[in-house]
Amino acid sequence: MPFSRFKPLILCSVLMQKDSFRSFKSILSKSEKIAIVTHWSPDGDAMGSSLALYLYLLKTGKKPQVIVPNGYPDFLKWLPGNKKVINFQEQEKKALASISSADLIFTLDFNSYKRLEKMGEEIDKSPAPKILIDHHQNPDRYATLYYHDVKACSTCELIYEFLVGLGGKKAIDAKIAACLYTGIMTDTGSFRYPSVTAYTHEVISDLLKTGIIPSDIHSAVYDSYSLDRIKLLGFALNEKLKVVPNYPVAYFTLSEKELSRFNFKKGDTEGLVNYPFSIKGIKVCALFNETEEQVKISFRSKGKIDMNRFARKYFSGGGHINAAGGRSLDSLTNTESRFIELVKTLF
Ligand code: 5GP
Ligand code: MN
Repeated sequence: MPFSRFKPLILCSVLMQKDSFRSFKSILSKSEKIAIVTHWSPDGDAMGSSLALYLYLLKTGKKPQVIVPNGYPDFLKWLPGNKKVINFQEQEKKALASISSADLIFTLDFNSYKRLEKMGEEIDKSPAPKILIDHHQNPDRYATLYYHDVKACSTCELIYEFLVGLGGKKAIDAKIAACLYTGIMTDTGSFRYPSVTAYTHEVISDLLKTGIIPSDIHSAVYDSYSLDRIKLLGFALNEKLKVVPNYPVAYFTLSEKELSRFNFKKGDTEGLVNYPFSIKGIKVCALFNETEEQVKISFRSKGKIDMNRFARKYFSGGGHINAAGGRSLDSLTNTESRFIELVKTLF
């Protein structure tokens, strides 16, 4: 059984499991049509890692295809390879054809089919072997091979390592580097989170040698607000920011009506959840966005406060210790009250 699903579960594998490059090379040598899928509401790391791997596989003569479960923000649409991405929600037929013809599937920046919503059932049904590359906690055991490390600052950092491990360092050109730089930059809050290590900067140093211009990438991603988005930010900070009395916790709630007042578009509240950390002493931040179907929640923390556990336990979500997400099917006000009570258990 060269690609056994049943790996011995040693303690270290909870934090990290990296299968051998011999196995990765062997499985790649047998595959031609390769699907690359990433999580619902793809972010910079999801798109950066998927497109970097896509561009690399193209270069090596494969037929890769990136398939996303739903749309992603405009500020990621300049990424090289973006035009070839299939959106499952909008192009279901095309996506299904691509999934069913794939002889290998990479699942990037997530580790449970739940994170793919409806597309998850299709990936699960596919008999193609799966390679999981991810840095979130508690991976499900669906893959054939794993390249998983919760200590990695981003999936893009792991993709860099993966390509180097395959012997593809020379193939990392400016286009691939731009994708990887974007994912590392966005998943580390521009290189400021505790997940950033000397190694992260070594990877960045290698990427810069391809000729990418970091200030251009920062501008493309961050200097791209619409007038509505910046006004929504002003409104949220001025009128919607609340602090839980006597606790180092700050949060925003945004109702569907409030969001539509500012012509809300996907990505418009990206980063908003972090603003209250600028207030001295704040250790936990949350953002509650009401949509037609549910309340989408973002959680952030400082230090050892475990938001992954909190989101999994109480809000059907997960993520990392310091950054997690979840959802609630309750009303916005009930969700807020429930959060206020539950968050106190963290202290
Ligand atoms: P965000 O708040 O930016 O949507 O997500 C923060 C982190 O939590 C990201 O790493 C994201 O992948 C993860 N995350 C967000 N929503 C969910 C969810 O519903 N389930 C799980 N398992 N992870 C989530
Ligand atoms: Mn990520």
